[in-house]
Amino acid sequence: MAIYPLNADIRVLISEEKLQTRIREIADEIARDYKGKELVLVCILKGSIPFFADLTKVLSIPIIYDYLGVSSYEGGTESTGIVRFLADLSESINGRHVLLVEDIVDTGLTMNYLLKTLSTRNPASLEVVSLLNKQERREKPVQIKYCGFDIPNEFVVGYGLDYEQFYRNLPFIGVMNKIPEPIEAIK
Ligand code: 5GP
Repeated sequence: MAIYPLNADIRVLISEEKLQTRIREIADEIARDYKGKELVLVCILKGSIPFFADLTKVLSIPIIYDYLGVSSYEGGTESTGIVRFLADLSESINGRHVLLVEDIVDTGLTMNYLLKTLSTRNPASLEVVSLLNKQERREKPVQIKYCGFDIPNEFVVGYGLDYEQFYRNLPFIGVMNKIPEPIEAIK
């Protein structure tokens, strides 16, 4: 298996500080809108893990955690349009307020599919918070209730987002200046 070096040629697009400031603002909006309601926050694996963790830590209202595993890229940099369910919710969302926590809405294929599928389970409400939005690439309509940053049409990595499963652990959002060379794994 190839390992990609963390110190690749990556330009910072959104710094750690900017991410954390914006996440606090979004958390305040969510807390205001859902005060007094039973809210289920759903982490869309795997890309949303850091965003989900940081967002929930600064939310000042009680929430319930759940997660969904989906896959739409299969390792490359272009959406295949095929959304695979890898792990379903652990509890029923019937009659509950549900907020899907996504890393990025790009073509919209994944989120459009998820919203259609989950709305058949009769939640009291179903909304989306996405850290990033690439509006230029949209193919299917998606209503994002809370959006962190609108970004240009560039392939981004870091803060949960991967290239070939690597770079998720960078604390910022970056753009690769060039495709990195893998280094040999030590067996
Ligand atoms: P969509 O279905 O909207 O095209 O894409 C949804 C998923 O594709 C995201 O949840 C994310 O995992 C992946 N994705 C979309 N754009 C990017 C990108 O610029 N970088 C990375 N690493 N993943 C992306």
